[in-house]
Amino acid sequence: MNGGSSTHAQPPEPSAAHTIHEFEHGYEEEQRLRGFRSACGFVTATWGLHCPRCGKLDLVEFPLSGKGVVAAFTVQNVPADEFVNDAPYAYVLVDLDEGGRISGWMPSIRSVTDLAIGERVHWVQSYKPGVQFEKDVPLPGAARR
Ligand SMILES: [Zn+2]
Repeated sequence: MNGGSSTHAQPPEPSAAHTIHEFEHGYEEEQRLRGFRSACGFVTATWGLHCPRCGKLDLVEFPLSGKGVVAAFTVQNVPADEFVNDAPYAYVLVDLDEGGRISGWMPSIRSVTDLAIGERVHWVQSYKPGVQFEKDVPLPGAARR
């Protein structure tokens, strides 16, 4: 009965000071990354209503620097639709300097030898979807695109 594709069937967004739409699109529309901080000191780059550490509903938004180190990555040869012209690229998990972990992608990484766990990266503003990172120290010959 409910086979339509209407988006009106979704539950309303929680009435928080921040919405997941704002969070997910903040870096695209406002060119900034949002993080959330709890009074207990927990920092996350993942949108949520309550602190996963202390459970309080006290997450306060603050802008993330977008600087950090690579915690994990994989090179994607079969891209998501949004990135179909960019493959191969790296899907990365970045541990941010201020705390929290964020996922993003790196179009400059074309092979597993182009990046290493622990390398420093930073967020770059892009018209592309997703959170895009670059190495702090560029690859030799990185202007190959
Ligand atoms: Zn907390």
